[in-house]
Amino acid sequence: MLVHEGSTIPGDRPPAHTPMMQQYMRLKAQHPDKLVFYRMGDFYELFFDDAVRASKMLDITLTQRGASAGEPVRMAGVPFHSIEQYLAKLVKLGESVAICEQIGDPATSKGPVDRQITRVVTPGTLTDAALLDDRRENLLMAVNLQGEKLGLAWLSLASGRFVALDTDAANLASELQRLQPAEILVADDCRDSTLEAAGVTIKRLAPWQFDAESANRALVRHFDTRDLSGFGANELGASLGAAGALIEYARATQSASIGHVRALFVEHDAQFVRMDAATRRNLEISETLRGEPEPTLLSVLDTCVTSMGSRWLRHALHHPLRDREIVSGRLNAIAVLRADGFDAKVRDALRAMCDVERIASRIGLRNARPRDLSALRDTLARLPALQTLLLSLPAERIASLAADSAPLPAVADLLTCSILAEPAALLREGGVINDGFDAELDELRAIRSHGGEFLIALEVRERERTGIANLKVEYNRVHGFYIEVTHANTQKVPDDYRRRQTLKNAERYITPELKTFEDKALSAQDRSLAREKFLYEQLLDNLAPDLPALQKLAAALAELDGLAALTERSIALGYAQPRFTDEEVLQIEAGRHPVVEGRIDEFIANDTTLAANRRLLLITGPNMGGKSTYMRQTALIVLLAHAGSFVPAKSALIGPVDRIFTRIGASDDLAGGRSTFMVEMTEAANILHNATACSLVLMDEVGRGTSTFDGMALALAIARHLVETSRSYSLFATHYFELTRLAEEYPEVANVHLDAVEHKDKIVFLHAVEPGPASQSYGIQVAQLAGVPAAVVRAAKKHLASLEQEAANRHPQGDLFSAGTKPAPQQQEHPALAALRNVDPDALSPKEALELLYRLKQQAGSED
Ligand code: ADP
Repeated sequence: MLVHEGSTIPGDRPPAHTPMMQQYMRLKAQHPDKLVFYRMGDFYELFFDDAVRASKMLDITLTQRGASAGEPVRMAGVPFHSIEQYLAKLVKLGESVAICEQIGDPATSKGPVDRQITRVVTPGTLTDAALLDDRRENLLMAVNLQGEKLGLAWLSLASGRFVALDTDAANLASELQRLQPAEILVADDCRDSTLEAAGVTIKRLAPWQFDAESANRALVRHFDTRDLSGFGANELGASLGAAGALIEYARATQSASIGHVRALFVEHDAQFVRMDAATRRNLEISETLRGEPEPTLLSVLDTCVTSMGSRWLRHALHHPLRDREIVSGRLNAIAVLRADGFDAKVRDALRAMCDVERIASRIGLRNARPRDLSALRDTLARLPALQTLLLSLPAERIASLAADSAPLPAVADLLTCSILAEPAALLREGGVINDGFDAELDELRAIRSHGGEFLIALEVRERERTGIANLKVEYNRVHGFYIEVTHANTQKVPDDYRRRQTLKNAERYITPELKTFEDKALSAQDRSLAREKFLYEQLLDNLAPDLPALQKLAAALAELDGLAALTERSIALGYAQPRFTDEEVLQIEAGRHPVVEGRIDEFIANDTTLAANRRLLLITGPNMGGKSTYMRQTALIVLLAHAGSFVPAKSALIGPVDRIFTRIGASDDLAGGRSTFMVEMTEAANILHNATACSLVLMDEVGRGTSTFDGMALALAIARHLVETSRSYSLFATHYFELTRLAEEYPEVANVHLDAVEHKDKIVFLHAVEPGPASQSYGIQVAQLAGVPAAVVRAAKKHLASLEQEAANRHPQGDLFSAGTKPAPQQQEHPALAALRNVDPDALSPKEALELLYRLKQQAGSED
């Protein structure tokens, strides 16, 4: 029956599709790449291949019912009221869904009810609260690769933030890592392995959509401006095409307007302390190396009381700024919030506030729910108190955030008088619009409530008129209003009673008076619902002009929350305010690793000094000694300072930094087809090409992935390049003891080491960074600590002894240090070689030269 809604077309020819299936096919043809959810009564049904796929992904039953075009129709369905949960699942799997609703009235339509696609849900265009992670942004990104050039545009539909960036194609991986889009749009003819390896839903669009000209047209039309100069976007390169393709896609998927996307922000590479993809991963900013959210820099610092604050903080940590003015503004604000418990007061004021940013967007998209509006109203009511508090705080940044979060009395009043104190969750049930807001609605509601009184009065009157004492006037959903009389009394029923229904013990009647009342009451109910819907839509219209103010408010609340959280953390964790200088220096006193320190009992703080005359620190020491921790803490302190946060150190003085690079740890990129060593060298190559004198470079164990000699040679050459050519601030941890000699060669290279001591056959790591190279690597002791069986440890000690013996007899070999030997002593030079070195060939007569040759031969021979 389901499939046969409407009538089939009879005839001798092979049976055609039923009219309903024809309607389905038409709609499906508009969205071939999406799962179409087709509304039928209380269900959304999927058909054919969609049904097969969805039944697997959603674990729902696949059925076959009816027939169309002579074939049974495979279908699978989900109940309409739990659609959000199924959508969430599908979107997580990277699927897109087109939702098709009944828009006609089934009672009056001939053939299938009119249906339309009313909503398209794709991973990158989510706005529904139920489908979104409220602590992070959900981005739709367009990628326009043009040779060496890369144009990017991204949009958070839930917040309306729309950004364009022109950069180098080589930065694609790092931008994907930074922005983590949920969905990527790219031209049909673009094949790029970085994109394909990103593991993100990719939508391919016609290449012309990325044309500068059509893009410009699309953007100008969307913003309703003459050109894009107002956004500083007149000079955009490839990102223009990306932005245009993106805005068109967003418009097409949202059946409502996307008017809350009001501006295009243009980002520049030079704005930020840049970090490539590997660095973001290695520093574990918001994700551990294993891809988990904790423990990370963000998880340690995020004590925000609103989700807007959490999103701001995540963004701030991923976008350390080079603009010292903005950074200092944040730092000064934190310094002020630290006094007198102001941070706690600000947090208390923010605590119960709703997600203004996302609600504002839902108002713009016209899918705000009644409770969004009541939450917004309650938040607006708290603004005056927040304002008073903020105005008492003497910090420039806070003053400007106070201006942006000034109360909005007109919006607050509108919401207060229009929305019930506790509105229903869904508009379709009514109970949303406040009493007293609209006279017509009040009147319709009065008919309903007065109806109760009318029925009681009617019952009393009819009992009197008929003399039937147990006569009842009642209502049920199926039969409407009726007068019930038991069989014993039916002979007393007056003539104007019409029988409606016969029960076992009673008869039910209707009278003309009751019928009139019923018509009025039922239509009042319908009309009041319709009126509420109308008023609600009108309210959304009336709120539209306030979206800019609400967006500004949201941004201010988010930053205030983020800054208050950073303040709270700085006090709780003993952070200090970093200072900036234009001199080439990174000077950290008693620095700590923000994440590691929270996970162990006693963290040993260490200094880091890098300066124009001390550019590269060679760090040696045993495995587990704390080398990686030390290097990363330096990078994290620099990052935090540029994000405008206090830092885990006693003091920090920081010169200009343009980029942070890391080459840490061994990771195979098997999916990308690169071995550990290849990954290592690719990352090293990137650093050597791009690091400048203002870059901070962390190199951990370069050259470990190949043979000892290759590895050491490469490590040495890379270190030299960093000192001589890049001249970056470098921290270079190595097992190759040979490298420590660089300090003798270059005044800018210094050795530091981490030490351990042996105590009763056990090893104790000191974790303190000391000047000079390490003296021992304790490899075997670390192995013992790790639980390598005693017999193996004993055997290793024996091997070590014999290797040391051999080494004493031969030339030193590079990596012996890491096998656990003492550093190789300076070797005694061969006497023949020493003699040769002292010879001045030009000063020798032929005879003397011949004699020397014999002597040397003799010396060499005597060595054998
Ligand atoms: P390495 O890189 O030298 O092998 P790590 O930096 O990985 O060593 O440190 C190993 C462990 O030592 C860390 O997980 C941490 O528990 C501890 N550790 C490192 N640095 C310190 C420190 N400064 N104070 C206390 N413990 C530390």
